[in-house]
Amino acid sequence: MRSNLAVAQAMMPGARVWAVVKADAYGHGLVNAFNAFTHADGLSLVELDRAIGLRELGWQKPLMMMEGLFSVDELPIFQQHQLQPVVHYQAQLELLQHASGEPLHVHLKVNSGMNRLGFAPEQVQVAYQRLRSMPAVSGISLLTHFANAENPSAVLTPQRQLQRFHECTQGINAELSLSNSAAVLLQPQIACDWIRPGVMLYGGSPGGHTAHDFGLMPAMTLTSELISVQQLHAGDSVGYGSLFTADQPMRIGIVACGYADGYPRHAPTGTPVLVDGVRTRVLGRVSMDMLSVDLTPLPAATIGSKVTLWGDGLPIDEVASAAGTISYELMCATAPRVRRETRGA
Ligand SMILES: *Cc1c(COP(=O)(O)O)cnc(C)c1O
Repeated sequence: MRSNLAVAQAMMPGARVWAVVKADAYGHGLVNAFNAFTHADGLSLVELDRAIGLRELGWQKPLMMMEGLFSVDELPIFQQHQLQPVVHYQAQLELLQHASGEPLHVHLKVNSGMNRLGFAPEQVQVAYQRLRSMPAVSGISLLTHFANAENPSAVLTPQRQLQRFHECTQGINAELSLSNSAAVLLQPQIACDWIRPGVMLYGGSPGGHTAHDFGLMPAMTLTSELISVQQLHAGDSVGYGSLFTADQPMRIGIVACGYADGYPRHAPTGTPVLVDGVRTRVLGRVSMDMLSVDLTPLPAATIGSKVTLWGDGLPIDEVASAAGTISYELMCATAPRVRRETRGA
């Protein structure tokens, strides 16, 4: 994670970095993120309890709360811990308007086409002027978020979003945070004061390129073992739904890992997996605690053989793509019962 942060910094020299640590640092653990991202300029997340946790760990640099304040009760907590809220809708302005106490640095979010959070372009100037007039606000930055930085042929390109953004923020002199991982990796010509990379810090690559192409290292490796081996005859099938049927005699291994561990149930036959470092494939349906793998390329594999579901030697993006999802979802879904071991701490 530390090395991946250095990659992000090297791709955007001069930009400061909000390392995005929402969702328990994409499943990697907040303490690990705290330790790995000491060279980030700030951390960015959405969960209030986790932000407090970061302050208690000793994080003294800025913390950005990407969904802002949800209610007036949270205001004293934001003030006490100097959390910087994103302000993205009208009610948040009202809330700050009536605030007293320690002023906050805020981030005004512009909806430049994503249509998720943010003020519409025609509301931005008014929102900005209101924030400027508030005693509860000590400073204002701007942000917007790209919908398609990994896909240059999308209808809504980052360039189109930037054009809208610049049109509606004319005359406002404020720092800007922009690029997510895809923009950092694939649109490095987009300049901004702050970048907001997430998945790349964990070794995931958005879009078609591999993480390795960018010099990113997998942060999470999910491993298990074979706990059973079965000899199939031609015509035998495997697991629930009998989704895979052997057309010739073959050996299969049963891995102690299933959807209750966060392995995707929709990973079909053919999803890559490593057994004793050798690439093979998932067979049939993934069940709650187990999945089956083809041992044809591994005549020596037996109970206790090491299995890598993703990570070192098997890019998480490849597994995600085979399972019809993205690495983000796999990282975040790793279940509480999976034992965590921290390397290189
Ligand atoms: C999650 C998130 C990011 C990070 O996105 P990645 O694709 O993981 O780099 C950046 N900005 C906002 C607003 C986000 O919600």
